Amino acid sequence: MTDEKYDILKRYFGYDTFREGQEQVIDELLSGRDVLGVMPTGAGKSLCYQIPALIFSGITLVISPLISLMKDQVRALNEAGVHAAYLNSSLTQGQYYKALSLAVEGRYPIIYVAPERLLTDSFLSFAVNADIAMVAVDEAHCVSQWGQDFRPSYLKITEFIEKLPKRPVVAAFTATATKEVRGDIQNILMLKTPYVVTTGFDRSNLFFQVESPKDKYAEVKNYIEQHPDESGIIYCLTRKLVEEVCGKLIRDGFRATRYHAGLSDEERRINQDDFIYDRSPIMVATNAFGMGIDKPDVRYVIHYNMPKNMESYYQEAGRAGRDGESSKCILLYSGQDVITNRFFIENNQDNEELDDATQELVMQRDEERLRQMTFYCFTHDCLRSYILRYFGEYGAAYCGNCSNCLTEFEEKDVTEEAKAIAECINSSHQRYGVNVILDTLHGANTAKIRQYHMEENPSYGKLSKVPAYRLRQIFNELLVQDYLRLSDDGYTIVKFGPRIGELLAQDSTIQMKLPKEQEKKPKEKL
Ligand code: ADP
Ligand code: ZN
Repeated sequence: MTDEKYDILKRYFGYDTFREGQEQVIDELLSGRDVLGVMPTGAGKSLCYQIPALIFSGITLVISPLISLMKDQVRALNEAGVHAAYLNSSLTQGQYYKALSLAVEGRYPIIYVAPERLLTDSFLSFAVNADIAMVAVDEAHCVSQWGQDFRPSYLKITEFIEKLPKRPVVAAFTATATKEVRGDIQNILMLKTPYVVTTGFDRSNLFFQVESPKDKYAEVKNYIEQHPDESGIIYCLTRKLVEEVCGKLIRDGFRATRYHAGLSDEERRINQDDFIYDRSPIMVATNAFGMGIDKPDVRYVIHYNMPKNMESYYQEAGRAGRDGESSKCILLYSGQDVITNRFFIENNQDNEELDDATQELVMQRDEERLRQMTFYCFTHDCLRSYILRYFGEYGAAYCGNCSNCLTEFEEKDVTEEAKAIAECINSSHQRYGVNVILDTLHGANTAKIRQYHMEENPSYGKLSKVPAYRLRQIFNELLVQDYLRLSDDGYTIVKFGPRIGELLAQDSTIQMKLPKEQEKKPKEKL
């Protein structure tokens, strides 16, 4: 038989071949088997359920958490000639009932629905009388409290499915691949011996790099000057910073534009188009930018600040090099980024669905994620393997295509430095932040040092011969190795970590892998 799925792929979506994982998922769904698809953003999850939806004789319900995402998908399907609709709170009551009555008539093979709608009387009475062939759950990690954005309303999905006269095929998709989340999705959605597919998270054409420059703007400017004909995105944590960086770039003669949630719809659309059509090849934006944007030739993504977690980082960095050509993902770290992110975590009102206890849990989890993100900036191991490990994949220990793999490291005995740092933290009663501790050891004469009388501390000036950057490297490594911790109440107070005993033991020696002294800057790949 000529394969119907290829016809549909060509006719409605205009593609000739499937990407990794897509064909197997489609075949399994068509045979009636549940599927759990773990695929990174941009891998093409939508086609995996849209194509079977067009082959099944019954209706496919797609459950999606975001109104904007639903609208985009439905618009794209309509433009491709597929009858699809969405049912969510953005519709007026009149529009909602109109759409529902068309659905009852069987006009839509694909209906996007918000999870809160599922158990409402009007929707249920439609669903139990309709022929529902498949329920596709987009962003399925929302069922998990360990997921990036837990949504209690996602728990209604299972109850909804159980109310249907005939159990449809259930397909769940997510880009979050940790074991806990995967397990939660299978259990909570009660997937029946699902076909589980995990497609590669590795993007071998991306070069990963971490820097902690003194002057971030100068670093960015320098990079852009050296890559004049390239298109790139610069992500900032705040709108204010977007304005500042974009303003400076324009003043310095670069064709930059900006994007954040504080601009009007009109301006965002214009700026986005300017970027996509290369009238402004440099986009300075908050994380509001990128969803649903598919510019293939983005040659670099620079993070002006460290984002809040690895999920966000990889998603945003992954917007580089969609065309498969080599591209750079550069993260510019500073300690202030940790503070800003902590502020966001503490003031996070994203999710009004959550009660206080859950909110507390979510906060703890977000803090742990932030810690993992910070370690990405500190690690001296291969950055790619750090990323892949985080997402539950095992890559080679050494990729040869990241700034750490291209930096020469050496094993150093840092026992003296490590013990001096611990002694300084101890003698100041674990009360101060990183800068005060390191400035004290270095013997600096700053206002803070005088304010806290640290010049009278026995550790003052004890490591004055060790270069400041080296001291910071050692300090960071002590954090990564859990000898030290940053406190939860502000994230900047240095405390002893669970392994401090080993460090303080009289005859202990501490070895560390540190960048070779003469080579502070990683070499670029030739
Ligand atoms: P995800 O939901 O996994 O983030 P999407 O479904 O939005 O990804 O797909 C990302 C992009 O890849 C879309 O522009 C889509 O049209 C494109 N795409 C999906 N499948 C294919 C394919 N087989 N061939 C070419 N492009 C594809
Ligand atoms: Zn590497």
